[in-house]
Amino acid sequence: MRERGLCSFMIKDFHFCPFCGTALISRELEGLIRRCCSACDFVHFKNPLPSAAGVVIRDGSVLLIKRGIEPGKGHWSLPSGFIEEGETPGEGCIREVREETGLETTVIKLLDVFHVTSNFYGEVLVIVYLLEEIGGDLQAGTDAEDVRFFHKNDMPFLHVRGFTNVVTEILPHLDD
Ligand SMILES: [Zn+2]
Repeated sequence: MRERGLCSFMIKDFHFCPFCGTALISRELEGLIRRCCSACDFVHFKNPLPSAAGVVIRDGSVLLIKRGIEPGKGHWSLPSGFIEEGETPGEGCIREVREETGLETTVIKLLDVFHVTSNFYGEVLVIVYLLEEIGGDLQAGTDAEDVRFFHKNDMPFLHVRGFTNVVTEILPHLDD
């Protein structure tokens, strides 16, 4: 998961207009109270952060990483991270898997899209792809303490409930 640092907190609550520096005021717009600039047209629309997670299966086992940073440090997770500007969701997914696990992959298909509210990042939209392994060497990379394939009968607790759902509810029906 790519670290977003202090900016991820600041972006949730601007106090000043990022364009002209005027203090923001709250006002209703399109049915929601939003922070707006009284001097220019800036409106602080708050949107979920788009992220992508990858499912790589080898001999019936699912690739997981042990997170090396917060949130969820020390817990197992699907490899995942925020999509960068200029990337498609699939490209972001492939990059995160490469950075965290060393494996080269290609997208097979979309598995799931879900929304999670994180105390750390706020609202996050998670796009989950089934990937095919095409190369690389398995090794724990950026932000990962460990990487390992887990059989479905030997799954550890996963850091995000939506990931558990993917592994327990969606993967068993892949061939249906
Ligand atoms: Zn302004």
